[in-house]
Amino acid sequence: MRLFILLFCLFLPFNSATAAVDIALRGKDPVRIEDVYQQRGIPYVAIEDVLDVVGLTGHWNSISHTFRIRTKRGWAEISPASSFLKVSDEYYPLEEKPRFIDGRLRVTDNFILNQLAQLSGQSIYFRNLDPGTDNLPEKEQTTGLEKLFAFLLNKKASPGGPILRAVAIDPGHGGLDTGVIAPSGYKEKELNLEVAQKLAKQLKMKLGTPIYLSRDGDYELTMEQRLQSANKDDVDIWLLLHAQASFSPEDSGVTLFVRPEEVVPNIIVEEVADEVLSDSLLLANELVLAMRESGIKVRGIYPSSRLSLGRGTLPTVEIELGYLSHAEELLNLQTPEYQDQMVQALYSGIRRYAKQSKEKTDGNN
Ligand SMILES: [Zn+2]
Repeated sequence: MRLFILLFCLFLPFNSATAAVDIALRGKDPVRIEDVYQQRGIPYVAIEDVLDVVGLTGHWNSISHTFRIRTKRGWAEISPASSFLKVSDEYYPLEEKPRFIDGRLRVTDNFILNQLAQLSGQSIYFRNLDPGTDNLPEKEQTTGLEKLFAFLLNKKASPGGPILRAVAIDPGHGGLDTGVIAPSGYKEKELNLEVAQKLAKQLKMKLGTPIYLSRDGDYELTMEQRLQSANKDDVDIWLLLHAQASFSPEDSGVTLFVRPEEVVPNIIVEEVADEVLSDSLLLANELVLAMRESGIKVRGIYPSSRLSLGRGTLPTVEIELGYLSHAEELLNLQTPEYQDQMVQALYSGIRRYAKQSKEKTDGNN
């Protein structure tokens, strides 16, 4: 089987004790920033350095303990205590909180490529020159999360058994952590749970597959609790469900993420034999094909170094189900019919992936 996948990878192998990144506005020469701290492949760049490059200004307010950025839409605020970006009176969730490291407030590549690009109204080019180098000072490394990722989520072979032994599904957010909130008041945490429960039902009914849901109600989970369900011995697939919001009202469609080390680095993959692709990527690809067949708009598959994906080789895909900021997509996502269509497509993709993976495992034994 041949796969047609377009991957935009900005990763280059490069060994160095220091971390550096290149940042540029489209059409301009990149500016190299070498005051970069990196942890688990996530670069932290001082917000002031980045603002210089993208032509915005901002300052630290020591009374409110926030960093304020002047934008065309008014003041935008971030804070090391908050995982939200505040613009005027609206709050947008961030993948990672800004952090004070070595005396400067720092933001991640995700903030720069998403929120900051939208605030500046321009697309930003970002290249991490040392993706494999962790250089965060010793004392900064010993957080609970770091300990948590000391264990790996590994793929286990299961010759002779069912095509899928068990599936773990993590509906993102819950409780006070609402995730994205749509203008209608509809919350990401509700959508994630509804889709997770429907998908769990399909897999149980049609394949008899046991499902581990990280939550089955509206409550908050720690990262440890989320990982627990995925770390069970018989889990063959882990899916994380989320939804997005964008400042650009026209952004819409489903986006899928896999771990950065699971995509083929450095090249744009157009035609590759499936042996060289990771299981996460094969699974993501089947999900994309099934959703597109069903008429659902899919943006693509991207590498993500988010901690939420964990580490290891367990086939893992984070699915951003759509944009709650897109008026029409929001209406769709709130309706049971569209949710069912999405769930049916996800089910088909999972089943196809599982069958192929099973044939390969059994063939090798
Ligand atoms: Zn989310």
